[in-house]
Amino acid sequence: RTKSSIGHTVCFFEPDMDENARARRQLAADLRHAVPNGELRLLYQPQRSLMTGRVSGYEALVRWHHPKRGPISPNDFIPLAEETGDIFAIGEWVLREACLEARNWDTPLKVAVNLSPVQFLQQELIERFRAILVETGLSPSRLELEITETAIITDKLRALHCLRQFKAMGVSVAIDDFGTGHSSLDTLHSFPFDKIKIDKSFLQRAETSPQALAIIRTVLSLGRSLSVPVLAEGVENENQLRMLESEGCDEAQGYYFGRPGPAPSLDLPLAANF
Ligand code: C2E
Ligand code: MG
Ligand code: MG
Ligand code: MG
Repeated sequence: RTKSSIGHTVCFFEPDMDENARARRQLAADLRHAVPNGELRLLYQPQRSLMTGRVSGYEALVRWHHPKRGPISPNDFIPLAEETGDIFAIGEWVLREACLEARNWDTPLKVAVNLSPVQFLQQELIERFRAILVETGLSPSRLELEITETAIITDKLRALHCLRQFKAMGVSVAIDDFGTGHSSLDTLHSFPFDKIKIDKSFLQRAETSPQALAIIRTVLSLGRSLSVPVLAEGVENENQLRMLESEGCDEAQGYYFGRPGPAPSLDLPLAANF
C-alpha cells in the first residue's frame, strides 16, 4: 500500500479497492472451472425430529475446495456464482450429487437441497431437475428443496409456477431463513410449503432478547395454524433445545446435533449425542 502524493485518506483505500476487485475477478474466473475440475463437495447436516428424537433428514451444504485457497464458504462464492451465472451449473451439480449420494444411504431419509433465487430465471429449471431425478433414480419424495423468501419476491408468478411443478412431481418445498426476508406472511399464504425453517438469528438472540423469543413463538403458532411443521435452525446448546421442546417446535438443526459432515453412514449411533 502506497500513499500517493496527491494526499489524504482516500488514497490509502484506492489500492485496496483495486486489490479487492482484482481478487474478486480472479475468484470469478476460478469459479468457472470449479464444477468441471471437480472442486465442489457436499457436506450433510442432520435435521432432528423433536417428537421422536430421530434424524429426519439431511441438508446438503456445498463447499468449494479451491486449489490454492483451500475450502471456501458458500456465503463467499454463491453470491458470486449468482452474478456470473455459474449458479446454474453449480445448482445442477449439487442436485445430481445429492441425489446420487442419498440413493446410497442405507435408510431412505430425505435430502434437502438449497435452491438459489437466480435458478428460477432458468427457463428449463423444471425439466432439468426432472431429468436429474430420473437419471439418478432418487425418488422425488426423498428430495426437499429449500427456498428463501427472496426467491419468491423477485418474480412471484414464476417462482410459484416452479414450486407448484416441483410439488406436482412429488418433491417437497421448505421455506428457508424464515423471518429475514420481506412479506413473510404473504409468501406463506401464496404457497403450501411443507416446512418452515426459522432463521438461526432468532434462536441465537432468544436467550437475551424477549422480542426474538416472541418471534419464534409466533412462527411456531403460525405453523400450527397452517399445519406446516416448523424447524428451528442453529441449535447450539441444550438450553435452546429445551426451550424449543417446551414451545412445541417440530424439528431442529444445528451444531448441537451435528456439524455438516461427509455423507452420513446410518450405521453409526446417530442418537448418541441427542
Ligand atoms: P442455509 O441454507 O440457511 O444453511 C444453514 C447454514 O447454517 C449452513 O452454513 C450451516 O453450516 C450453518 N449452521 C448449521 N447449524 C448451525 C449452528 O448451530 N450454528 C451456526 N452458527 N451455524 C449453523 P453454510 O454451510 O456455510 O451455508 C451458508 C448458506 O449458503 C446456506 O444457508 C445457503 O443459503 C447457502 N448454500 C449452501 N449450500 C448451497 C447450495 O448447494 N446451493 C445454494 N444455492 N446455496 C447454498
Ligand atoms: Mg438451507
Ligand atoms: Mg437457513
Ligand atoms: Mg442462510
